[in-house]
Amino acid sequence: MKNSNKFYIDGKWVTPISGETFLLLNPADETPTATIPMAGVEDVNAAVAAATVAFETWSMTTKEHRLSLLRRLLELYNASYDEIAALMTREMGTTLSFSKAAQAWVGTAHLENAIAALEQEDFASLRGSTMISKEPIGVCALITPWNWPMNQLVVKAAPALAAGCTMVAKPSEYSPLSSIRFAELIHEAGFPPGVYNHITGAGEIAGAALARHPDVAMVSVTGSTRAGVAVAKVAADTVKRVAQELGGKSANIVTADADIEKAVRDGVAACFVNCGQACRAPARLLIPAASMEDAKRWAKEAAEAHSVGDPTTAVTLGPVVNKLQFDRINSLIQAGIDEGASLVTGGVGRPAGLDKGYYIQPTVFGDVTNDMVVAQEEIFGPVIALIGYQSEEDAIRIANDTIYGLSAYIQCPDLERARKIARRLRVGSIWINGADWQADAPFGGYKQSGNGREHAEWGLHDYLEIKSTAGYIGQFGGRGRA
Ligand code: NAD
Repeated sequence: MKNSNKFYIDGKWVTPISGETFLLLNPADETPTATIPMAGVEDVNAAVAAATVAFETWSMTTKEHRLSLLRRLLELYNASYDEIAALMTREMGTTLSFSKAAQAWVGTAHLENAIAALEQEDFASLRGSTMISKEPIGVCALITPWNWPMNQLVVKAAPALAAGCTMVAKPSEYSPLSSIRFAELIHEAGFPPGVYNHITGAGEIAGAALARHPDVAMVSVTGSTRAGVAVAKVAADTVKRVAQELGGKSANIVTADADIEKAVRDGVAACFVNCGQACRAPARLLIPAASMEDAKRWAKEAAEAHSVGDPTTAVTLGPVVNKLQFDRINSLIQAGIDEGASLVTGGVGRPAGLDKGYYIQPTVFGDVTNDMVVAQEEIFGPVIALIGYQSEEDAIRIANDTIYGLSAYIQCPDLERARKIARRLRVGSIWINGADWQADAPFGGYKQSGNGREHAEWGLHDYLEIKSTAGYIGQFGGRGRA
């Protein structure tokens, strides 16, 4: 790839200062894919300096000007759709079919939604003689993970551009290729130099340098709760706004009057989407305790129906992203076995017949109790935990018994009861009876799953400051003057 050894700073592809590199391996077969640069503090400073200068003029542009550039970016993104989908499969192993159907599509959706939100936005309104205006917050650092590379980058970049912010994007070093292509499209679309800057690098070095930089006004980070906390701590010294989209361990409550077989089969499929590498994966399947034996059988059949292998072929599960995740997931599967959960299918090590690549056996644990590691830790692989509950009250208690609060799922034929359950779940997003994910509904977490809401107008508002200018129309209310 042409620019894979460069950073995009101030409208140019530049040679990194640091000299550090990172060898990216294709997770499907462990062969080298690219050597990418790893930013040091000087690279970060150069990118922030470019964004700081560009903010002076970009923040003053008209809404119409920004809309025309965003519309051009959308056209270019859609024209590169298949290429972007293929890059994501290469960098993080998601199946090509899923990459085309979902991973690339969601970039289009976030661009469209940011454009619609900008079209609708009134940046100013009068209250008495006071003008209340919304202004871009400043230079933003966009720090993103590898599991949905375009989703997480575009969901930040599109509203930040719409708001009039300038930015430095630092995608995960494990998924840089699609992000490099995105930076090329930004250039082609004609955004002025310095408005969007792209670097790659390690979280602890480049990410931390961005988070602590005094000229960065806001950090939006998607990643693990560990990374989100680290960012917030170093950002605190300069009182930045920090938006965090972090981990999850979502419960999927199946009520006793639901079609439990269907709910279990669908629940396994939903948990294994993107090979289980989804922050909102319904990884805890809560079923009436009396149905545990049946549920184990249905879940086993559903998991074993998956085909695992080369993600460019017609399989349902590709590899997980890297060796680190491969080892981590296997150690968590081992922890489940050691703690006494019933291993219904799957287990430690690659599926039979695959001796290279980071492939995980689709794994089902039954008879899990909510205090077990496999019920509390985010596994981020094709591993599901079946937990039996005694009553609906018990199910709600178990669902909320986690440090996370990202999302939850309810399978209940009685919609009124489903709504009552939803009201009591401490999470940011809920899906009832298999409802679709909507890219224009707000998304974000309660508790240790984060702060702030992304998507559509909620995303746009994240990147705006509010200013009140009294006396704007020269009339005073008579309650004192300053
Ligand atoms: P990660 O936390 O390892 O890294 C995420 C990003 O943060 C990367 O760019 C990384 O370089 C950076 N980072 C790491 N440590 C940092 C530090 N100390 N300072 C600054 N930046 C730092 O996460 P990952 O393994 O790339 O992604 C998986 C995680 O992302 C999971 O926990 C998942 O739940 C979460 N996630 C959350 C959402 C959401 O919307 N809530 C969406 C997708 C993924």
